[in-house]
Amino acid sequence: MKHDTHLIDSLAAITGHANVVADADACLLASSDIFPWPGRIPADLVVRPGSTEETARVMALLQKTGNSVVPRGAGLSYTGGAVPHSACVVIDTARLDTIDIHAEDLYVTAGAGVTWEKLAAALKPLGLRATQSSPISGSVTTVGGLASNGVPGGLDGVIGLTAVLADGTVVSTGSSAASTGSAFQRYAGPDLTGLFLGDCGAFGIKTSITLRLATEPAAAFASFGFAQAGHMLAAMSAVVRQRLVARAFSMDQARGRSATTIDAGDAAGIVGAVARNAGSIGGALKDVAQLAFRRNVLHEAAWSLHLVIEGANEAIAQAQLELARAICVENGTEMDNVVPKTMRAKPFSIRGFLGVDGERWVPVHGIVPMSRAAACHAALDAHLLKNAATLASAGIKYSWLISSSGAYISIEPMFYWHDELDPIHFAHLSERNRTRFGGRPANLAARALVTQMRGELRDIMDAHQAVHAQLGRFYRYTDQMTVESGDFVRRIKQALDPQGRMNPGVLGL
Ligand SMILES: Cc1cc2nc3c(=O)[nH]c(=O)nc-3n(C[C@H](O)[C@H](O)[C@H](O)COP(=O)(O)OP(=O)(O)OC[C@H]3O[C@@H](n4cnc5c(N)ncnc54)[C@H](O)[C@@H]3O)c2cc1C
Repeated sequence: MKHDTHLIDSLAAITGHANVVADADACLLASSDIFPWPGRIPADLVVRPGSTEETARVMALLQKTGNSVVPRGAGLSYTGGAVPHSACVVIDTARLDTIDIHAEDLYVTAGAGVTWEKLAAALKPLGLRATQSSPISGSVTTVGGLASNGVPGGLDGVIGLTAVLADGTVVSTGSSAASTGSAFQRYAGPDLTGLFLGDCGAFGIKTSITLRLATEPAAAFASFGFAQAGHMLAAMSAVVRQRLVARAFSMDQARGRSATTIDAGDAAGIVGAVARNAGSIGGALKDVAQLAFRRNVLHEAAWSLHLVIEGANEAIAQAQLELARAICVENGTEMDNVVPKTMRAKPFSIRGFLGVDGERWVPVHGIVPMSRAAACHAALDAHLLKNAATLASAGIKYSWLISSSGAYISIEPMFYWHDELDPIHFAHLSERNRTRFGGRPANLAARALVTQMRGELRDIMDAHQAVHAQLGRFYRYTDQMTVESGDFVRRIKQALDPQGRMNPGVLGL
């Protein structure tokens, strides 16, 4: 496209020339997530404001020039929320990277572009962590991206935020909205923080997020194998109902195999992390050897269930573990706890964004009431089995991740298939894997089948009362609401973004 040099100069006057990018490759990279969306359009420009004030000036300018805007964290999602489908300027939040810790009052205000790993590293020396659960992708994904996408366990750990509206107005929510306020409390009148959470950027650009902190608790770990999904789901629901676990997650055999297949580079990092947590390099090596050489029972059980249990001290965590164990051994068999222990020690990795042989990967999830989980899983399973021959002949494999950390079960089938990779994959691959996995031809037939299956699985989930995180442009929101509720959301959108320029198309708006 022909670039509007006047616009570029005006934006550069706010952010500096280095932070207004018109290069075609950079615009393409900043316009993708990890799924190959057919309707995607590269951004006209990418702008990287360095503060709330710069973001406000950029937005006011773009409102005047009539440009649409797509906010972006790391772009490591798969529901199209960060993928422009019409001409736009991408606002990349990478430079919004400040971290302001208030240890005594137990909160931190982080710039929207701060990664979860960077935040955890800043809090760790103080013995603190954010109570908000963070994504596995947090080695590169951002606090602003999660606040905008949501996460199955909810966003109760977010207690306030600052957002820039479409016309450049800056608003703060929670107790910091008061002109003399401190950011320590979310509930200070109507919950305006909640309005912006999970909005996929439809209502404004978050420039900073305030998160509740807590001291790092003691933890205990346990894993169990189950022959049947129904037994595993019943055990997961029971430990969650009794509030015994901080997190429960389950993998089928195929997922277990890929989760425990690690190369030498990953192994070194995992040994270090586990040893730091356990205080023993010998124990860490044993754990990693079990992962690397696949001696774990994980490969024998149809379903493995992994529990992370937290308590004020080790004795309390262990006592809760005993209660959870009594539930799980009713129909399950205890196995080595290396998987939850390792994930606790090394919580962030994007290794899984491709299959072990460099296959493309994409999940689809539904968050269902516990009472519907078994039926929903059975219906999804039946649909996949009905299509098993078609999937196999197209070279498409699938596996499952099922998890909970509250009164819900998240069910997440994930697909793997050989296909051409995108620049966003190459941006995060090691040199070795770039060579190994690069140059594969586009596999349009498999891609189309995965696209179709994802839609069908989403519909089955929705028939079982599912809700979704990461609504983006894939999951339904306003288009499955009652008329009045949908109108209510549209009225809010109209008030905040009357010209419809904030991430058009997300949330069905
Ligand atoms: C390997 C891998 C593992 C993953 N694990 C998890 C997991 O454990 N749990 C989970 O929930 N998800 C997971 N995800 C999905 C995804 O990484 C998360 O949803 C993550 O929070 C996205 O963050 P991001 O910075 O990449 O956001 P992006 O993808 O850049 O953006 C997400 C959405 O938010 C909007 N947005 C981004 N920043 C802002 C902002 N500052 N203001 C307003 N809108 C904004 C974007 O427009 C888009 O609609 C995983 C993905 C991968 C590839």
